Amino acid sequence: MSKIEAKEIFNGKVEFLYSINNPEQFPSYHFPEIAFIGASNVGKSSLINSLVQKKIAITSNTPGRTKQLNFFKLFGYKDGFIMVDMPGYGFARDSKKNIAHWQNLSLNYLANRKNLKKVFLLIEAQKQLKDHDRDIIKFFNIYSVDYQIILTKIDKLNRADQIQILEKIEKELSMLIHKKPKIIATSASGKYGIDDLQNEIIKLLLNL
Ligand code: GDP
Repeated sequence: MSKIEAKEIFNGKVEFLYSINNPEQFPSYHFPEIAFIGASNVGKSSLINSLVQKKIAITSNTPGRTKQLNFFKLFGYKDGFIMVDMPGYGFARDSKKNIAHWQNLSLNYLANRKNLKKVFLLIEAQKQLKDHDRDIIKFFNIYSVDYQIILTKIDKLNRADQIQILEKIEKELSMLIHKKPKIIATSASGKYGIDDLQNEIIKLLLNL
């Protein structure tokens, strides 16, 4: 197993490939995929941009905007891998039509995608777990989707609250998944935990 450095992968060439809003358009290739999902405004775009230190994902203050799957290729490891930026869910003012579109697109992708190796489920630390997050965790469990929880915007909490909230989420999750989850705490604006997430992705690639 060769030792690979985070900067070779994440600071290397990144290319936007596709924006997909219909399950019939899911691309067919052999590259492994890692997806990022979470509630609207969870800080997903900021985290993806921090991972690659480039503005590839569109950040916004308008929740519920991205309704497509965006595919990015990172070239720095072997013949490359794909990061998939999934549309946010749980936007209170979403129309029924938007919710149905999200379900058709995202749940189809999660349940059926053979290339998908891991989903990072982003939870805003201060907001903790909400029912729409619990629903997606149940969906992961039903469809045996390999996932990991990433806390975002950890900088909004003081140290004591960070520890308390992490323990609370760990406790709830361990009841849902019957084992101790490995949660990574991050802050895109504070540049915290980004290297932990990069290392997690590298570990995953090495084990493929
Ligand atoms: P997305 O909708 O999930 O892609 O979220 P964005 O990345 O667009 O971020 C949503 C809002 O949260 C924006 O106002 C960001 O500036 C803010 N935000 C994102 N990451 C962080 C973070 O690590 N800390 C703090 N305090 N705010 C953040």
